[in-house]
Amino acid sequence: QEEIVIIGAGQAGAQVAQSLRQGGFEGPLRLIGDEPHPPYQRPPLSKKFLAGEIGAEGLWLRPPAFFTTNNIDHIPNTRVTRIDRAAKRLELENGDTLPYGKLVLATGTNARFLKLDGADKTGVVTLRSIADVDVIRDMMQASRRIAIIGAGYIGLEVAAVARSLGKDVTVIEALDRPMKRVVSQTVSDFFSTLHQGEGIDLKLNTGVEAIEGGDSVTGVRLSGGEVVPAELVLVAVGAEPNDKLAEDAGLEVDNGILVDGCGQTSDPDIFAAGDCTRFYSGRYQRSVRMESVQNAIDQAKAVAQALLGQDVDYDPLPWFWSDQYDIKLQIAGLSEGYDETKVAGSPADSKFYVAYLRDGRLIAVDSINSPRSHMMARRVIGETWRDDLLPEA
Ligand code: FAD
Repeated sequence: QEEIVIIGAGQAGAQVAQSLRQGGFEGPLRLIGDEPHPPYQRPPLSKKFLAGEIGAEGLWLRPPAFFTTNNIDHIPNTRVTRIDRAAKRLELENGDTLPYGKLVLATGTNARFLKLDGADKTGVVTLRSIADVDVIRDMMQASRRIAIIGAGYIGLEVAAVARSLGKDVTVIEALDRPMKRVVSQTVSDFFSTLHQGEGIDLKLNTGVEAIEGGDSVTGVRLSGGEVVPAELVLVAVGAEPNDKLAEDAGLEVDNGILVDGCGQTSDPDIFAAGDCTRFYSGRYQRSVRMESVQNAIDQAKAVAQALLGQDVDYDPLPWFWSDQYDIKLQIAGLSEGYDETKVAGSPADSKFYVAYLRDGRLIAVDSINSPRSHMMARRVIGETWRDDLLPEA
């Protein structure tokens, strides 16, 4: 069997390797990653790991021995810099080259940065990796005031942790409500009230002009001229797919590596899975790029099946979660394009769900501390909406 090489030893890359072995692939299998750690899960980075409630071992996706036991050659600390498709060979940052038979790109995303005056000062950070959190945790300890740019789920999760550690926290958001990209007004309002109730200064409709300070940050200058004092500034304004390697190799790329239902790119010998991909969803009738554990795992399984010669057509029901204080938000489906919402349960009791419909059809459900409705929603979405299909919140 020809050698399969996976670039990116994260959630998707590790899953492709595991599923290939489980599916009976006995050929050589390499998993190349540019981080020093065994493959790990990222969700706790902005939650329990940042809070110091779990150590790095609590993040490993598999026990480190798993890879040797399964004859998976995990090569850490190694960055792939070029794909030579004609020679079917990879160039590595250290100057070495590696051949491949089939290649899988599982390179994930990078945190987006703001091109702001002063953004290069010490104390201005983004959060994507263990290395990032190691720095942020130390800085957070030494800081009294923390400013977070972006009220998406990562910004709000970090805000919750920082607040629980007793810090003064300001969250600055350009849009008129938090998590606007993914949830409805009702859910945004709930989270605004939650964070404000915990003592966070949530500044909506607010742009950022510059980062102030000398070598180190001292504050964030807002578009109105006001300066929010801070010793630590987290930029949490979304992520960009790591698709440059693919683009430079001449693969089709459009804000994500374009793949079909098998995870195959425009080169039949190269597949891709996880955050770095974009694919057409028949379910949602448009192309999508997802950033979630569900997608990384399920698309990786689909790629492994395709590599094993099995039929597969990946078109998932997406799901996602976020933990903020003792509140668990769970999202089933994609709500974009809804024309009606129904709320059940009570935001005042911190236990409710919002169902999103389009043309009377259920397309998504956001559940707040209501795991039963989330699980039910995952089963029901795709069927015609029936009120009695969802339980009390
Ligand atoms: P990654 O896990 O990012 O792995 C990609 C790997 O490839 C990285 O190690 C990267 O360094 C490496 N790499 C990239 N380029 C190269 C190269 N050229 N050579 C070698 N290696 C390379 N999802 C949820 O569903 N729920 C959550 O609550 C949640 N919380 C999150 C919190 C945070 C702070 C973050 C950052 C993400 C969170 N996510 C959450 C998203 C989830 O972690 C990602 O969707 C998932 O990790 C994607 O897996 P992946 O394998 O595609 O990418």
